[in-house]
Amino acid sequence: MRIGIDLGGTKIEGLALADDGRELQRRRIPAPRGNYDDTIRAVADLVVAIEREAGASGSIGVGIPGAISPATGLIKNANSTWLNGRTLAEDLGRAIGRPVRLANDANCFALSEATDGAAAGAAVVFGVIIGTGTGGGLIVNGRVVAGANAIAGEWGHNPLPAPADDERPGPPCYCGRAGCIETFLSGPGLALDYIVLGGEDLAASEIAARAEGGEPRAITCLERYERRFARAIATIINVVDPDAIVLGGGLSNIDRLYAEVPKLWTAHVFSDRVATRLVRAKHGDASGVRGAAWLWEAGAAA
Ligand SMILES: [Zn+2]
Repeated sequence: MRIGIDLGGTKIEGLALADDGRELQRRRIPAPRGNYDDTIRAVADLVVAIEREAGASGSIGVGIPGAISPATGLIKNANSTWLNGRTLAEDLGRAIGRPVRLANDANCFALSEATDGAAAGAAVVFGVIIGTGTGGGLIVNGRVVAGANAIAGEWGHNPLPAPADDERPGPPCYCGRAGCIETFLSGPGLALDYIVLGGEDLAASEIAARAEGGEPRAITCLERYERRFARAIATIINVVDPDAIVLGGGLSNIDRLYAEVPKLWTAHVFSDRVATRLVRAKHGDASGVRGAAWLWEAGAAA
């Protein structure tokens, strides 16, 4: 049995997978926001509860909204800021009584989809969660590529390529720069562009619904989004040349992306044709926690 834990900012989800990938059970608890010691205890208690119901023990992988700094061994880049600067893997391992593997949550998402999801069988997979951010993860031959700085896949803080005059310098980003890909392609980025086009403050899903219904402003907004997406993801294709790009998160539910973006990206990819597939996540919101469980299968500590 493999246990996956998704350590989110507002909830902690735990799942047990059988060896064949079948889901045995899933539990969800509120995250103890702002309290590190309570977070450790909550994860340990969740593991105990899962194993008691299963009547078996398992390996434990944990997806986190950040990364382990290779330089210090401490958590960095977590928007659940109470995790930053902590020896999370060691502290969880001590509380649970066995080693725990950690990986960035977008890496877990990509691993799940590469293992038995929409990109199963593909050698090189780039996974993107487009929601509040645009986190990405890279999987090669079934393994997470974490990277020397533990930032592999973090394309969202590259600048938007080939910006037009009205895209420069671009919206300010929390990372301290302006015009990051994330400021255009995240859910809040799409919502902001609808306002820039003279519309009201709407959720990304509502903008997509209005485009579907034929509203000219929403259609314009999505066309701009798709052109930006194509330019941004083309740089990924040129560097890692993935077999498949898998989209998860709220904006992955916008159907037209899968047809429109590949039409647009060819102009920006250094190839006569592009065989890369753009696909929607198979496991949806469960992919993060499934990928955490697969960390032991894949031998991918990160
Ligand atoms: Zn940024």
